[in-house]
Amino acid sequence: MNNEKLQLPENPYLLLTPGPLTTTPSVKAAMLRDWCTWDNEYNGLVQDIRFKLARLASASDPQRYSAVLMQGSGTFAVEAAIGSVIPRDGKLLVLANGAYGQRIAQIAQVLGIATTVVDFGELAPVDAHAVEAALAEDAAITHAAVVHTETTTGMINPLAEIARTVKAHGRTLIVDAMSSFGGVELDAAALGIDFLISSANKCIQGVPGFGFVIADIEALQACKGRARSLSLDLYDQWVTMERHGGKWRFTSPTHVVRAFAQALLELEEEGGIAARAARYAGNQAKLTDGMERLGFRTLLPRPQQSPIITAFHEPEPAAFTFGAFYERLKKAGFVIYPGKLTNASTFRIGNIGDVHAADIDRLLEAIEGNRFW
Ligand SMILES: *Cc1c(COP(=O)(O)O)cnc(C)c1O
Repeated sequence: MNNEKLQLPENPYLLLTPGPLTTTPSVKAAMLRDWCTWDNEYNGLVQDIRFKLARLASASDPQRYSAVLMQGSGTFAVEAAIGSVIPRDGKLLVLANGAYGQRIAQIAQVLGIATTVVDFGELAPVDAHAVEAALAEDAAITHAAVVHTETTTGMINPLAEIARTVKAHGRTLIVDAMSSFGGVELDAAALGIDFLISSANKCIQGVPGFGFVIADIEALQACKGRARSLSLDLYDQWVTMERHGGKWRFTSPTHVVRAFAQALLELEEEGGIAARAARYAGNQAKLTDGMERLGFRTLLPRPQQSPIITAFHEPEPAAFTFGAFYERLKKAGFVIYPGKLTNASTFRIGNIGDVHAADIDRLLEAIEGNRFW
């Protein structure tokens, strides 16, 4: 192989999907080296990542948290947390308003964990009053789980109110912050979050291959022997990483980890989470304004809308089909996302990743030029 001839190929399209998402050329280039999974230098990189994640999640009290990395996609990290954190005699309250909340309930059911689901429907935010009622009613509930930004619709749930309610009742709080962490400012310590879950290929802008759980150390220490799976044992993974300086228990996704370290550097260079959140919010506002100008309607009212992904109603004319729309936009260099709602025809456009205002302008031009229906 002649290294001098090796060039990064051009991306044929921009991913406007909420993970995997468009990464920078430098993040992709960071993968062009093989690493030893137990070498000190590599494990040092892992430690650095864990340290940075705990700080990013919790500016007000980073010492209280420790980050555990877990092989697999984001769902594997959710399953590791749910399966490792809730004791045999515990009970989980799932606050659901979309597919990802329902997935948490499904994981708990498969694992045989006693579960109560409060379902708010796909179009309503999680309501802290209903959380209050559910907790007051059932003393057996030990843990509550909620999705911060429901990627199904793009809904942002009122995390501060939910956390306040769950903590006032002395329950353990697990947050699926998969699509928000790194793209929306949040302080787990100030909110009292015990376990916060996200993955490499969302707002940190790495490539897919592992998820992570940022855990309150005291709450994590209580999890010894609780896991219902060997490979997804969050506690054991944590102990191994702590005792052996960043070592994973089984083969780790070395190239993905290296790319993630680069992605964290680029987050710092951008100005941290505040700056990235501002870019995403700018993208989202530009997208919505432009789409509304073209006659599209958003699924959600603005106060419920996250800066991560936006769901739009499909246009009325019968000539519109998502498949044809998708193909035309793909040819123009943009990949968008189908809808995921049970009761409404929508499509979704994400604006996270290495996506900037000029990209949104080009997208809007492409949509305007492809109004064939
Ligand atoms: C992406 C995502 C997940 C994880 O999905 P994977 O396909 O397993 O990576 C979980 N919850 C939310 C809210 C997500 O956006």
